[in-house]
Amino acid sequence: MAEIADTNTPEIEEGGNFIEEFGCDVFGINTMSEYLPKPVFKKLRETMETGKALDSSISDDVAHAMKTWAMERGATHYTHWFMPLTGATAEKHDSFLETCANGNVIARFSGKNLIMGEPDASSFPSGGLRSTAEARGYTAWDPSSPAFIKRANGVATLYIPTAFCSYTGEVLDKKTPLLRSMQVLSAQAKRLLKCFDKDFEGGAKVTLGAEQEYFLIDRRFYVQRPDLMQTGRTLFGAPPQRHQQLEDHYFGAIKPRILAFMADLDRELWRLGIPAKTRHNEVAPAQFEVAPIFEEVNLAVDHNMLIMDALKRIAEKHNFACLLHEKPFAGVNGSGKHNNWSISVGDINLLNPGNDPHQNAIFLTSLCAVIQAVDKHADLLRSAIAGAGNDHRLGANEAPPAIISMYLGEQLADIVEQIEKGQAKTSKHGKTIKIGADILPELPCDATDRNRTSPFAFTGNKFEFRAAGSSQSCASPNIVLNTAVAEAFDEIATALENLPKNADFHAELQKMLSSIIKKHKKIIFNGNNYGDEWKKEAAKRGLPNLRTTPEAIKPLTEAKNIALFEKYGVFNRAEMLSRHEIFLEEYERKIGIEAGLSLKLARTHIIPAVAAYLKELGGALETEKMLGGTKKSKAAAYAAKISARLNSLIEISDNLETQIKKAEKLPKIIETMAELRKVADEVEGEVSNELWTLPKYCEMLFVY
Ligand code: ADP
Ligand code: MG
Repeated sequence: MAEIADTNTPEIEEGGNFIEEFGCDVFGINTMSEYLPKPVFKKLRETMETGKALDSSISDDVAHAMKTWAMERGATHYTHWFMPLTGATAEKHDSFLETCANGNVIARFSGKNLIMGEPDASSFPSGGLRSTAEARGYTAWDPSSPAFIKRANGVATLYIPTAFCSYTGEVLDKKTPLLRSMQVLSAQAKRLLKCFDKDFEGGAKVTLGAEQEYFLIDRRFYVQRPDLMQTGRTLFGAPPQRHQQLEDHYFGAIKPRILAFMADLDRELWRLGIPAKTRHNEVAPAQFEVAPIFEEVNLAVDHNMLIMDALKRIAEKHNFACLLHEKPFAGVNGSGKHNNWSISVGDINLLNPGNDPHQNAIFLTSLCAVIQAVDKHADLLRSAIAGAGNDHRLGANEAPPAIISMYLGEQLADIVEQIEKGQAKTSKHGKTIKIGADILPELPCDATDRNRTSPFAFTGNKFEFRAAGSSQSCASPNIVLNTAVAEAFDEIATALENLPKNADFHAELQKMLSSIIKKHKKIIFNGNNYGDEWKKEAAKRGLPNLRTTPEAIKPLTEAKNIALFEKYGVFNRAEMLSRHEIFLEEYERKIGIEAGLSLKLARTHIIPAVAAYLKELGGALETEKMLGGTKKSKAAAYAAKISARLNSLIEISDNLETQIKKAEKLPKIIETMAELRKVADEVEGEVSNELWTLPKYCEMLFVY
C-alpha cells in the first residue's frame, strides 16, 4: 500500500480584518443590544449575568430578534444544541417555517420554542433513569452561553446551547451538572472571601483554557483504514522506523498544507467567538495543537465541543482526516486535552500569588483547598477522564499515569512545607512564611511545562489537569473539580466563620492550613510520574491507581462520592448510578466493536495478504526447484516462517471469534486482540508491500 497523497489545498480567503470579524456569527451582547428593544436587552443581560431564569415576558421578543438576525445571515433552521451522555453533541433542526390558516407561509420563532424543546429522547443513554415508555426529554436554553450560527458547506443554522433533562427532572447531559457545580463553587468562593473581608457583587467565575491536541492524516489513507473510521484508532500497524525519536516535530516549522488548514480553522473559530490563540506542531509526527484563551468554564466547554467539530469538518475540506482519539497509533504519543482551571472573584484570581500579604493569604488558602480537594477526591477526578481511548494513553510514558498526584514546583512545595511546620525556622530559603504578614517570594510562571509528567500541575496562576483525553468533553473533570473545591472552601469558610471574635485570624488560618497540608500532602509529588518507582511510592502513600475504565468509574457508585454530590446538589444518587451504568456500557460496546473489527480486519486484510505472499513464495520455490535447488534452501525456510505466521494468525483469529461468541470477559478479549496484533504487526514487516492492503504508519504519519 503506497500511493502519493492528493495534496491539493482548497483556496482559503485571505486577510480581512479578523478582529472586526471576531464573533460575527454569535448572538452576543453587542448584537443583542442592536436587535433588542432597550428594556428587553437589559432584562436579558441581567439573566445572563446572574444566571437567573429568563423572564417569560421577554422570551418572544428575544426569539424574534434572534430569528431576524439569523435569517439575515442565511439561516432557515434553528436547533437546540445539547450534550447527551454519549459524549458528543446532539441537534435536531426545525425550520422557522409555519403555515397560516389562509394557506400562506411565514417565518416564525416563538419564545416558547427558544426556551424549551422536546426532542424524542428515547434513544439517548439514560442508564435506567427514564423508561422508554416515558421517552420525553426536555432541552432548556442556557442563556449564559450565547446562540450562534454554524456554517457547514454553505448551510447556515442557528444553534441554541441548551441543557437536557428527563420529564421527571433528572439530568441526562453534561451541561446541567456543570452549571450546578459552578453555582456551588461560586457561592462557596464568595463565602470564603467574605472571611477575608472581601465582598463582591455578582458571583465567582470559574475559568477554563482547554488545549486541544489532534492528529491530521491524509483522507485517502483514512478511508482505507476501517479501524480508524469505525473506532478512531488503528487496531493494527507497526510503528515506523522513524517516529518521534529525533524530536524534530515538536514546535517544528508548520508545513504549508497544515498551515492552510490551521488558518481556515482559526478563521472559523474566530467567527464563532472562540478566542483561538495558539497553534503548533506537537510531539508525534502528524500531531498538532490548538489552544484558545481561557473563558468562563461553561462557555469554554461549549467552545471546546465546537473546536472538535470544526477540526473534523475543516479537515475534510482540506482532504485530511482529523483524529481526536487518545491513542490513534500504538507506539507513538497519544493526544490529551490540558484542562487549565482557575477561579476568580471580581478581579482577583484566587490562584494568583499576589504581591501583598493579604492576597497571599487568599492564594495560600485557595491552594490548600485545592490540595485537599484533589487528595480527597483523586478517585473521582480519575473517573472523570475514564474511557476506552484514554486507557491506552494514561501511563504509557507519554502522558500522566492513572495515578492522580499534584505538582507544585520546587519553590511552592517548599512554601507549603513551611506552612505545614508553622513557625519552623528551617527552610531552603532560610525564611518562614507567616500568613497574613509575609509576601511570597516571586514564583516562576511555569509557561514551559517544566514537569510534563504530572497529571495535575500548578502553572503559575492556575492548575493544569493534563490527564484529560483529547476526545473527551471537559465537562466531567470540571464538575468534579468545582464540587470538590467547593467542599474544601465550605469547610474552611465554616471554620473561619466560627472563630471567636477575639481570635487571631491569621494565626488560626495558619493552623488550619497546616493541618490541611499534614493530612493531604501525600497527593503532592514533584518527581517523575513516569517512573516505576513512583508507582511503588504512590501505592505506599495509599493513592489510588485505577488503570482501566471499569476500575476508574467504580468510584461513581461509592457512598462517599454520592454523598459529596448530593450534599451540593450537583447529582443525586440515581443520576450517579445511571452515569456509572452508561459509561460502563459505552466501554463494553467500544471494546466489542474493536474486537469484532480486529477479527474482520485479520480475516479480510491481513490473513489474505500473508496467504498471497506465501503463494508468491511458493512460486519462487517452484522456480528454485526447477533450477535444482533443495528443500532446505533459505527461501524454503523463509516460506516456512511465513506459513507459521499464517497459521498463527488463523488460530488466534479463531480463538478471538470463539471468545466473542461466548461473550468472554473483556480483559481476556483485549488480551487476545493484543496477541493477534502482535503477530500481524510483525508480519507487516515481512510480507511484500504490494500485497499489504492497509496503509502503514510510515505512510499515514508522514505523507501530508
Ligand atoms: P502551556 O502549553 O505552556 O500549558 P498554553 O499557553 O498553550 O500553555 O496554554 C495555557 C492555557 O491556559 C491557555 O488556554 C490559557 O488561556 C489558559 N489560562 C491562562 N490563565 C488562566 C486562568 N486564570 N484560568 C484558566 N485558564 C487559564
Ligand atoms: Mg499546557
